[in-house]
Amino acid sequence: MGNFSTIDQSQLPPILEVRGTNRAMGQQIGESIRAKVQHGVENTRAYFGHNFSALQLSWDGAVLQALKYMFFALQTHPQYIEEIRGIAEGANVNYADLAVVNAFECVAVDALHLQKCTSLAAGRSRTAGSVILGHNEDWLAEDEPDVYFLIAHPVNEPAFIAMSYGGLLPNIGFNEAGIAQSCDSVYPNDLRVGIPRVIVSRAVLAARTMEEAVNRTHPPLRAAGYNHLLAHPDGEIYNVEVSASTYQVIPAENGCLAHTNHYLSPKMQQMEKTRTGQEKTDRRYSRIISLLSQHETHSMQSFQSMLADHENYPDSICQHLPVENQTSTQSKTIVSLVMDLGERKMSYSWGNPCSNTYQEIIPGF
Ligand SMILES: [Zn+2]
Repeated sequence: MGNFSTIDQSQLPPILEVRGTNRAMGQQIGESIRAKVQHGVENTRAYFGHNFSALQLSWDGAVLQALKYMFFALQTHPQYIEEIRGIAEGANVNYADLAVVNAFECVAVDALHLQKCTSLAAGRSRTAGSVILGHNEDWLAEDEPDVYFLIAHPVNEPAFIAMSYGGLLPNIGFNEAGIAQSCDSVYPNDLRVGIPRVIVSRAVLAARTMEEAVNRTHPPLRAAGYNHLLAHPDGEIYNVEVSASTYQVIPAENGCLAHTNHYLSPKMQQMEKTRTGQEKTDRRYSRIISLLSQHETHSMQSFQSMLADHENYPDSICQHLPVENQTSTQSKTIVSLVMDLGERKMSYSWGNPCSNTYQEIIPGF
């Protein structure tokens, strides 16, 4: 097993508590984790340097591209552009550099097609009465040291808890209204210049009802789409598969659902950019569905052990970098999350969940 890790486990990720306007919250985040935000920008710059031949894009070119995408977000979601501006101010970095970090998928990843992230959920019929959501965040190893947690109290939106890293807007977590979200990359064939995915998913985390959350996954003028796995403590769980021009809601089957990095619904399969090279996401999806079916009743513990699974290694749910080939375009599991929405708590394992213990965070709402 590749045990490559860039983190020092003796110091767990910070848990920030911020409040105020989006700008003020951004400034508090930027000030508190200045080194992580700066490191995130450096990593993104290095990524463009390493992959110049594949991307044909310099850093200056990436900035111009990112600002085009952010122009759309400025019309539709100005409060989250304010949040990015606040993070930039607090961390002493340029807004334009953070625009690249937050539009990174549009500007770079769509071209390189990273296959990453696994999400799953179990409804009340498959647990002791709670709703449980799990997510492995598979991303570039260089960003693993920059993971942090945020408990935010915005002035005009529900309080929320989320995981993020570097200068990326937070989008995976749950809010005071009970809306929980995890996101998985998908690769549609209808990409366009528009609102970046990260901004769209940040807005979902501010929804007050499930209907509002579903509606927020597919605003007009979006650039592309994620799969948004949405869950609510009352028992509703959905996958919402989104592309730039269309979307599909998928309800739970037998009280559970999961998602990796390919479209599942027949409608959205028409939007898949390519099926070539999709074996990794197919294997993780088959495996997680099989694991979910192995137990009638699930718990936070059963979710934690499913997320640490190594079947089909190296294309396993717990993703590692192969020791012999640690390039900067491959992903690994940098943090694993399990949320119990009934108990309103989040547990996380920083780095690979097979070799690190889960810690609990109770946000108090
Ligand atoms: Zn592992």
